[in-house]
Amino acid sequence: KCGSTLNMAANIKVVVRVRPLNEKERGANSRVVVDVVDDTMLVFDPKEELRPFFYQGVQQPTKNVLRRANKELKFVFDNVCGQTASNKDIFELTTKDVLASLMEGYNCSVFVYGATGAGKTFTMIGSKENPGITYLTMEHLFYTINSFEKERDFDIGVSYIEVYNENVYDLLKPSKTPLQLREDAKYGVMVAGLTLESINTARELLNMLENGNKNRTQHPTDANAESSRSHAVFQMRYKTSSQARVVKLSMIDLAGSERASATGCVGERFKEGANINRSLLDSKLTRLLKDSLGGNCKTVMIANISPSSISYEDTYNTLKYAARANKI
Ligand code: ADP
Ligand code: MG
Repeated sequence: KCGSTLNMAANIKVVVRVRPLNEKERGANSRVVVDVVDDTMLVFDPKEELRPFFYQGVQQPTKNVLRRANKELKFVFDNVCGQTASNKDIFELTTKDVLASLMEGYNCSVFVYGATGAGKTFTMIGSKENPGITYLTMEHLFYTINSFEKERDFDIGVSYIEVYNENVYDLLKPSKTPLQLREDAKYGVMVAGLTLESINTARELLNMLENGNKNRTQHPTDANAESSRSHAVFQMRYKTSSQARVVKLSMIDLAGSERASATGCVGERFKEGANINRSLLDSKLTRLLKDSLGGNCKTVMIANISPSSISYEDTYNTLKYAARANKI
């Protein structure tokens, strides 16, 4: 069902999430460069009110001439979420819709995109105390299925893998040996030897996701090493006895986008709708998601950004990229 690239426009949703300032960003020498105007619009690098400067009680001329002009760029997306948005709010705006498509038999994909530290993993995985959209989506899926399936005539299997340096690793059963991709008529693209955990409730996922995430080649404190170059892909396969095919949901926590511009490997994805299948991702990810992009497949992209001037360039790049994705 997902071979064609027609109809992309209706099937890509782009949501921007601005996280709260962190401790460091609240410190000296930084300012907020993202102004969330409403639930679909933000202004990047807004004009600043010049604070009047007084010397001995007399207002002094401002040093406006020395200042860099602000970009003051307006961006409009399907949704813009400010710092008060919860993971639940993001779920409501993104994957809740996707589940309807899934139930109709279409494979779906959800990406989180953004620089390291922008909030991708917080959004996707979160923590046991504050689960991300992967858990919330699965919770809603079980809720939905249980409400219409009289007998438990369905099977849900989940996997969690890492794509790192074009190698695929099982995050549920860590090993140094990479796994190989295969194609299967019934199951679509497969990772040979991958652990497919059968689950009956969303709660079973919490430990799995947390442990899996710890197994990633990622060290959050070490942003300039190889750490941010890992993609994590959670996949859910849903099958009922009445269905011929297995339906797949893929949730992809992409490598830090700051690497994309440096390596050119993921920066231009989504640029042209027609090329989405080819240009989206590293080749391993592209293959892995071959049956889950384009056509009638729903795709959601969540672009994560920091509001601080410390991340000015990363935020600007992420917004430009997300805006391009929004156009197709
Ligand atoms: P990334 O995966 O994009 O590198 P993380 O999700 O690890 O970034 O987020 C970086 C830090 O910011 C983490 O400590 C995380 O808990 C925190 N954080 C991210 N988004 C939010 C948010 N919306 N609210 C509160 N803290 C957040
Ligand atoms: Mg992360």
